[in-house]
Amino acid sequence: MERKTRVRFAPSPTGPLHMGGVRTALYNYLFAKQRGGDFIIRIEDTDSQRFVPGAEKYIIEALNWCGIVPDEGVDASGNVVETASERHPHAPYRQSQRKPIYRQYAEQLVENGYAYYAFDTAEELNAKRAEMEAQGQTFIYGQTTRMGLRNSLSMPEAEWKELLETRNDWTVRFKMPENRVVEMEDLIRGHVEVNTSTLDDKVLWKRADELPTYHLANIVDDHLMEITEVIRGEEWLPSLPLHYLLYEAFGWTETQPRFAHLSLLLKPDGKGKLSKRDGDRLGFPVFPLQWVNSEGEVSRGYREDGYFPEAFVNLLAMLGWNPGNDQELFTLEELVEIFSLERVVKSGARFNADKAKWFNKEYLRKKSVAELTDLYIPVLESKGITGISREYVEKVVSLIQERATFVADFWDIASYLFVAPTTFVEKDAAKFWKEENYTLALQAADFILAFEGEFTKENLEGPLEEYIRSNEWPMGKVMNCLRLALVGASSGLGIADIVTLIGKEEFARRIEYIKATLC
Ligand code: GLU
Repeated sequence: MERKTRVRFAPSPTGPLHMGGVRTALYNYLFAKQRGGDFIIRIEDTDSQRFVPGAEKYIIEALNWCGIVPDEGVDASGNVVETASERHPHAPYRQSQRKPIYRQYAEQLVENGYAYYAFDTAEELNAKRAEMEAQGQTFIYGQTTRMGLRNSLSMPEAEWKELLETRNDWTVRFKMPENRVVEMEDLIRGHVEVNTSTLDDKVLWKRADELPTYHLANIVDDHLMEITEVIRGEEWLPSLPLHYLLYEAFGWTETQPRFAHLSLLLKPDGKGKLSKRDGDRLGFPVFPLQWVNSEGEVSRGYREDGYFPEAFVNLLAMLGWNPGNDQELFTLEELVEIFSLERVVKSGARFNADKAKWFNKEYLRKKSVAELTDLYIPVLESKGITGISREYVEKVVSLIQERATFVADFWDIASYLFVAPTTFVEKDAAKFWKEENYTLALQAADFILAFEGEFTKENLEGPLEEYIRSNEWPMGKVMNCLRLALVGASSGLGIADIVTLIGKEEFARRIEYIKATLC
């Protein structure tokens, strides 16, 4: 029987979610939604040493911001679900709360000969490691060393059974079979084979904290949660043989999920994994949201840098996947329609910060003036600009929308539509504010002030240009003098646009000011 598609994103709350992690979540989400399946979030927090407070909340908030909303694992208020219900039948979804589940599975493996108890202390293992390294060998706990170590395979039964009762620091280790070729299928990479002779006996469960390690918890939960496909980062590919063997050892191969390992996001130069340091060095975020660590160190986030979530999702989708044609802009809904793992590339995807900005610019162009105005008003308020009509801000936004990449750019592009310039760019003034130009510009200003028609760009622009042209004045120089008065620089919007926005009175004030300052 065809099983319902169920995939999961299984982050460990060890810090802020890297954008590569968001991409993994996104591909899982797209895969599930396309098939009418379920997208589940499971928090893998069994490694208490790497636990970072706030990381879980951050991860969920980041996914939420992107519109990657889970069907199971997180409730409507954004909390990881702790109690099973009809909608969340597999709760709890936090592995630390599933603690009692795992021990029986570890013991089942021991009983069936797939795992064993190990009693070596950290000191004993360190001594063994040092001894082997002194002989130029590397130590792994596995097929060649296990019989010389302290475990239920090497020790007499009575002895290890006593230790099992009396000590509370033993572990369960997987007994890696010798010299077996594990044959695996990856939905992106195809057929993969690994010989077990190089693999160690991984710890699966620890008596000390009664917790499973990642490998055991991951396999048990994927099985219990009826996961059909595991889509995750390629750093987990080396663990795949162990995971295959665990499914086999449990007798779960019939329902074993299919696997897809996603390649890394690479630095802009293509050399190595994209890291936070690259972001700091080259000036772009690698995290979806801003993150402040326990030392108060701030890492920038796409959200705080002014990216739209739709743009962020779109740019992530294109990092490692393509639709097979030139189209680059896709909404989340469109991605659900056309995404396919077959079109995910095997090689790493190089991050390009300019391209990331390009996506945002494209989304900003598509936004409605009303929405952008909503976003811009708080920016204006933060600059101390209040009491301006919404209609005025909308006009400004519609004039500069095409020129901006981020909403924050609006201010840099046209702050002069809200505050008069008090200084003039020296180089521009030196170039244009010369007597032979400004005497003409001041006459053009008088023409504008005397203009009697309705004061709109359409009414003013033609007659103003006609006036300058009929006098045979140099158009560019005259306009640039006027722009200097209105903007404080020789670049900016068209004169008629500025004048009709700020109005006649303000125009007159700015002309008086430049006269008093520069003439
Ligand atoms: N907890 C693992 C991680 O943080 C999940 C790996 C997996 O998806 O199997 O990457």
